[in-house]
Amino acid sequence: MLRQKSFENEKPTLFLVPTPIGNLSEMTPRAIEVLNSVDVIACEDTRTSGQLLKHFDIHKRLISYQNFNEESSTRGILNLLGQGQNVALISDAGYPLINDPGQKVVSEAAAQGFNVVPLSGSSAVLNALVASGLIAQPFLFVGFLPSSENERNKKLREYRSYPMTLIFYEAPHRIQKFMNSALGILGDRRCVIARELTKIHEEFLRGTVKELAENCEGLKGEMVILIEGNKEDFHKDVDYGVLMTMVNEQVAQGLSKSEAIRKVAGETGIPRNRLYDLVHNKEN
Ligand code: SAM
Repeated sequence: MLRQKSFENEKPTLFLVPTPIGNLSEMTPRAIEVLNSVDVIACEDTRTSGQLLKHFDIHKRLISYQNFNEESSTRGILNLLGQGQNVALISDAGYPLINDPGQKVVSEAAAQGFNVVPLSGSSAVLNALVASGLIAQPFLFVGFLPSSENERNKKLREYRSYPMTLIFYEAPHRIQKFMNSALGILGDRRCVIARELTKIHEEFLRGTVKELAENCEGLKGEMVILIEGNKEDFHKDVDYGVLMTMVNEQVAQGLSKSEAIRKVAGETGIPRNRLYDLVHNKEN
């Protein structure tokens, strides 16, 4: 076990600093303070981040951290931390790691016992979720689906039975194909497209998957798609006689009743509480 008391040690720190997803006023004072305090800022695109930093009058050494050079830039950042330098990781917009580079360096910096400290700030997923009108929790943030139709549909099939609100990122030139796939595979549920969040043309399209599939062509800008979780009872057709037999077989093999229920719940995907209720009801 590794325990990190973020501000009670002298170890070098990797700060995870969110940057605005549109409205520059969402750059927090703490983000500016931390970026001014570190030795090096690692970013996706030195030109994009260079402009942001110039706007806030921050002058620091910039190094690039991208998915295609993740191995070598992770090594580079770990070396800097190893030399006692503090590093901030930013992405082009929003949170690093959230559909942006950073996973590897965070995992490895944490594993090596450096401080990994997150700052609060903007991320499209949460802005979209809280204003969508859909159930806010539980939710599943999926991010981008594969661009190939087969792969996209395969992933959507995986999520079809999930009861939680599903959240996707998509590029404007693929939104129509995405919505067609969603309609075909998830069916006509409540759906929201949140577009250009925090910007002057911010827009929410709230309706059903079918309505939005019919009206999304030509939508421009950055967008988040939120789709209501599955509200059908996927277990309603389950044969409870069979489940009871499975539980009884496990008990006959020496498991306690609760162990047997846990095992059968794991094997069948039936919620454990539901199985407890069933067994209890049958016994009383
Ligand atoms: N790291 C970012 C975050 O924390 O949200 C996400 C970066 S990802 C490369 C870019 C995608 O995020 C866009 O294609 C869009 O789906 C979503 N996105 C980013 N900014 C947005 C905005 N202002 N409005 C709506 N969606 C946005």
